[in-house]
Amino acid sequence: MTAAPDCLFCKIVAGEIPAEVVHESARTLAFRDINPQAPLHVLVVPRDHEPNAAASAEADAAMFAEIATSARAVAAGEGYDDYRLVFNTGAGVGQTVFHTHGHVLAGRPMGWPPG
Ligand code: 5GP
Ligand code: ZN
Repeated sequence: MTAAPDCLFCKIVAGEIPAEVVHESARTLAFRDINPQAPLHVLVVPRDHEPNAAASAEADAAMFAEIATSARAVAAGEGYDDYRLVFNTGAGVGQTVFHTHGHVLAGRPMGWPPG
């Protein structure tokens, strides 16, 4: 699957909806979350539409790996060695946009386990 109709993040990837892009790679795009939960809160998404992390990994392992390396680049680019990379999978744990995205969070103390 490359793009899905009516998918918010496909529209951001296509440039149809504006976003503050902070990093790009061949297979990924990273942009600031509209409702940040930490001083650094960026979403790293694959350019190709898949509904969640496992589906992206199955469809294209290199694409999924690039989400992880892009996340590191985003954090490093803003001066953070330590960051949290979160993939909500399923509405039951808070996934609201069904286009794979890793949340890159940094810049404040992070509790464990997460809430
Ligand atoms: P989820 O809850 O699916 O794990 O994460 C979806 C994230 O997308 C949320 O953190 C939410 O704030 C963010 N988000 C929703 N709509 C937009 C938007 O139009 N632009 C940006 N940049 N982020 C969005
Ligand atoms: Zn999509």
